[in-house]
Amino acid sequence: HSDSGVLAGDERMLIDGELQLTGSGAMFDVINPATEEVAGRATDGTTDDMARAVGAARRAFDTTDWSRDVEFRYHCLTQLHAALERNTERLRRVIVTEVGCPISLTGSQVDSPVEEVAHWAEVGRSFEYLQDTGVHDSQAGPSRRLIHYDAVGVVGAITPWNVPLYLNIAETTPALMAGNTVVLKPAQLTPWAGSELGRIVAEETDIPPGVFNVVVSNANEVGAALSADPRVDMITFTGSTATGRAILAAGAPTVKKTLLELGGKSAHIVLDDADLTAALPMAAMLACIMSGQSCVLPSRILLPRSRYDEGLAILQATMEGFPVGDPWATQNLQGPQISKGQQDKVLGLIADGVASGARLVTGGGIPEGLEKGYYVQPTLLADVDPDSRVAQEEIFGPVLCVIPYDTQDEAIAIANNSIYGLSGQVSSADEDRALQVALRLRTGSANINGGQHFGLTSPFGGTKQSGLGRRNGLHGFEEYLEIKTLGLPPA
Ligand code: ADP
Repeated sequence: HSDSGVLAGDERMLIDGELQLTGSGAMFDVINPATEEVAGRATDGTTDDMARAVGAARRAFDTTDWSRDVEFRYHCLTQLHAALERNTERLRRVIVTEVGCPISLTGSQVDSPVEEVAHWAEVGRSFEYLQDTGVHDSQAGPSRRLIHYDAVGVVGAITPWNVPLYLNIAETTPALMAGNTVVLKPAQLTPWAGSELGRIVAEETDIPPGVFNVVVSNANEVGAALSADPRVDMITFTGSTATGRAILAAGAPTVKKTLLELGGKSAHIVLDDADLTAALPMAAMLACIMSGQSCVLPSRILLPRSRYDEGLAILQATMEGFPVGDPWATQNLQGPQISKGQQDKVLGLIADGVASGARLVTGGGIPEGLEKGYYVQPTLLADVDPDSRVAQEEIFGPVLCVIPYDTQDEAIAIANNSIYGLSGQVSSADEDRALQVALRLRTGSANINGGQHFGLTSPFGGTKQSGLGRRNGLHGFEEYLEIKTLGLPPA
């Protein structure tokens, strides 16, 4: 392993404008998943620290002009964008170190999120409903009505470890631009993507004390305290469905607005007329990049029985040649899993799949020569029972489950046989046929013939137990706002 780029991130958190360690001085280790070595440390904040941060955010929202001054917010976010650009190379090294993400894939982990800050600054400034006057309801007849959008208030943002800088930015910068104050609780496996953001805000922007806070902690209770605090108006969360349910329940007593982006088990329906050599190498690659640690990747491939062996052979060849290893080496496209716990979980689910009758075509273990680090081989399971655990549970590993089908209707039924509804894929030589199939998927998005649904200007989110609400697009900005309707006497 090359350790030339290993770099520790900031150990501190940001509360009420001050970069600080928790009072007791307690720290926790940050493990480099590619080497299993301690890369550095982070402060182990407590529920008391969280209470102070929420108090600061509440005060900043209630007693300053932040929520009413869109030009100042534009200034602050533009500054933050420039500051992040200056820090890009440092952030890239932090992400490779704490996530184990291959350096060649850090564009989506670092560069895109930095650009996203500028996007939300522009969206907020041009959003007409945020202007002082609001927007006239022209259909109200002789009644005069104005529609105005207000910030929700204090937003708690709880983020996971798979794309931590991206989600720290995606969950907080639209909220800030909409006029909210924010408390961010980053994932404990990747604290530096949060602490570095806190440091940059504190040292390199005019964002006022209390407007943006980052509470770093190794304890789930600290996130739970944020999601239950009555002074918090809204929670925005990305992570597992189990934690999403807990957050929804914690917010119920104070009826918190809740934006949830949860698990997925997306299916790729390959129709019988599809060009397999175009569709399947990409499908296998998507399963392995990010080590399969993405909610949105298609993890079930539905192949027509008439072309089953042909399809399996293409998937197998791509997975067996897939470049796995040291994330600092530019040729690698798959690094380790994030932790020992995740590695064990993935290997356990593969074993469970085989026990339930699936056929292991390739992979299934730890790659040779990569015993140090939490690596898992690209793994292909065929003849998977659609009701088995491996077909129903989110694996979050480089594992593809292949399920054969006979008719198009059967394929759609298998795809929809899930508690999740995040995304999907359809491949066919006939785009219109693929579109008709995609429209029958009960998901928040779907890609057709390699198209890309994901982008800053288009809504993204899940149906069923994959979540509530949408990120991105104008819709994703409005999630961080409350609508106020003003009635005036007829003119
Ligand atoms: P994973 O299980 O893969 O670590 P989670 O969805 O549990 O993913 O974690 C995502 C984020 O949720 C992390 O920041 C974690 O600290 C936080 N978290 C975990 N449990 C809770 C909880 N009960 N309430 C609020 N946040 C939580």
